[in-house]
Amino acid sequence: MRLPVSGRKIVVLRMGHRPKRDVRITTHVALVARAFGAHAMILADVVDEKLLETMRKVIESWGGRYFKLVCGIPWRKAIEEWKRLGGCVVHLTMYGENIEGSDVLERIRRDPRDVMVVVGASKVPKEVYFLADYNVAIGNQPHSEVSALAVFLDRFFQGKELIREFEDARLKIIPCPRGKKVVRLR
Ligand code: SAM
Repeated sequence: MRLPVSGRKIVVLRMGHRPKRDVRITTHVALVARAFGAHAMILADVVDEKLLETMRKVIESWGGRYFKLVCGIPWRKAIEEWKRLGGCVVHLTMYGENIEGSDVLERIRRDPRDVMVVVGASKVPKEVYFLADYNVAIGNQPHSEVSALAVFLDRFFQGKELIREFEDARLKIIPCPRGKKVVRLR
């Protein structure tokens, strides 16, 4: 099944990852990126072998070999290169235009450019707010990069990403009201 606005590439840029503190939450950012329809994630500035291995295993079992995870690109370079190649940048921040209370999502959906979605960990450098084409708040209250990314992608794809199947999956869940049903496809 094709996702709406599916001609466009969506890349998530995860900034500010602190190797000791953020391992679990960055893994969740990557899982959300893949499951909610992004094509790739860049982990800025650091290389995390454990994250690469976790995502390799998830993709091997549940599919999505097209999903690329790249580590270690400096965040400024990643953003500038993305813009140079013609993409737009959406920075998720509680200080931005509220996704529900403004037309910012409509403007992003109408914008024909590929999208880089930036999420932070600790304090995001001020420059990011000015490099971004859109600063978007998933409500103007503090919560988390995982929830912010999930809500943004879900609204961007209008929920259609939730029923998409991964063609290269080895395992597939058969939804059922109780218990677990999983079939092996290959
Ligand atoms: N205090 C930090 C700052 O001022 O940048 C925010 C840290 S927050 C734990 C980590 C990330 O979650 C943020 O960089 C942002 O990407 C995301 N986030 C948290 N709340 C958000 C919200 N209400 N809307 C959009 N993104 C949010």
